Amino acid sequence: MQSFWVYFLAFVSGFLECHCNNATSNSEVRLLLVSFDGFRADYLAQYAFPNLQKMIADGAHVKHVTNVFVTKTFPNHYSIVTGRYAESHGIVANHMYDAATKKNFSIFADQDQFWWNEATPIWITNQQQGHKSGGAMWPGTDVSIHNTMPSYYLKYDHNVSFSKRVDHIIQWFSNSTEPINFGALYWEEPDATGHHYGPDSKELGNMLKEVDDRIGYLIDQLQKTGLWNTVNVIITSDHGMAQCSAKKVIELDNCIGRGNYTRVTYSPVTAILPHANISNVYELLLNCDSHMKVYLKEDIPERFHYKHNERIQPILLVADEGWTIVQNGSITQLGDHGYDNALPSMHPLLVAHGPAFRKAYKTNTINSIDVYPLMCHILGLKEESNNGTFANVRCLLISESCVSLPDVIGIVIGSLMVLVTLSCLIILMKKRGSPQRAFARLQLQDDDDDDDPLIAG
Ligand code: AMP
Ligand code: ZN
Ligand code: ZN
Repeated sequence: MQSFWVYFLAFVSGFLECHCNNATSNSEVRLLLVSFDGFRADYLAQYAFPNLQKMIADGAHVKHVTNVFVTKTFPNHYSIVTGRYAESHGIVANHMYDAATKKNFSIFADQDQFWWNEATPIWITNQQQGHKSGGAMWPGTDVSIHNTMPSYYLKYDHNVSFSKRVDHIIQWFSNSTEPINFGALYWEEPDATGHHYGPDSKELGNMLKEVDDRIGYLIDQLQKTGLWNTVNVIITSDHGMAQCSAKKVIELDNCIGRGNYTRVTYSPVTAILPHANISNVYELLLNCDSHMKVYLKEDIPERFHYKHNERIQPILLVADEGWTIVQNGSITQLGDHGYDNALPSMHPLLVAHGPAFRKAYKTNTINSIDVYPLMCHILGLKEESNNGTFANVRCLLISESCVSLPDVIGIVIGSLMVLVTLSCLIILMKKRGSPQRAFARLQLQDDDDDDDPLIAG
């Protein structure tokens, strides 16, 4: 009986255990990472996406991805491919200033690897570990990082159509001599339309139809080339989008003279470099507007993971959702992002399809930094140090035995019932099989033969 318990417990714990180390190191494994800039998580429930829904029905869907702070394009795209918070990968904003070197960075002047070298993106790690990578306009893929370019890449040009970018990616995966096993593909929409017209506009609705058509094109091309069932595809985004309003504008000129500071980033998170005394500038900004939080660098909340980097400026202004920080005047755009990354409106979604992923699987949330260990696991790569957690994403993978809490409770209760029944049966059988008992029964039968009037009657 004791050995039965040992076997049983070993079976249950073996079943519940996560087989975390069975990374697939198959060189045939392929992965395509796609970002549709500014694809807010809840667009999926608000609009029709026939092509994306087909992928979801046959794949895995994360409803809300928690992006990193600041909720901007370059920091978030670099977090997805490095697994690090912005303070740890060095691309802390779309615009940066480094006081030590007096260098400036912007999305229009992003080629100096000085800015990118604090981390190593997955396309380089993939190449260092013996594979080929391709980059179709994913931020950073047209920059030499650690003196390494992707095996194949396109120079950033927003005029190049999505279908052209897809065609290149397909060619790289299909290359007969040196095919890629990892590709990163980027598209500027629905971010651009979201900024211009706002996330609640009919124009945004029209653009989302186009986004779905483009997903349809990607699926078609992968199917035509026989890649659809063999390439793992992750479709995600860098951030969401909030509705802005000309009535929600914070004018810094009402509080502080422009000669006192330089704005290194703009809105809704404005990085302030004071020209002289930090405390004086801080005091002037502190009570400027109730819809804007003002932080000294050392007081930036820990949950932002946005403090430990020289490129983060001494004072940070963070507007409330939907508010815009300007020096003076009004605004022209009706949508923006950059806000607190805890806001649901800032969150993108993630859809994953292919041989590595579960089918018809849904989960509520992961962090965007968790996508990196997920991708490394799929590709069988040894990870660079990162802030992501594989345990948060492993249930997306078909190779991982993964049970939910209700399943665990069901299994435990069911197992206990089976155990109790088995134990009772074993006890009963033991009692029945015992020779003493058989003898007693024989004796009883002997007794029965007596002419006992009580029994016979
Ligand atoms: P934002 O919405 O301000 O965070 O940035 C989005 C913009 O970044 C897009 O509209 C693109 O024009 C721009 N962008 C995206 N990828 C790149 C790239 N690789 N190089 C330069 N600009 C880019
Ligand atoms: Zn973006
Ligand atoms: Zn944007």
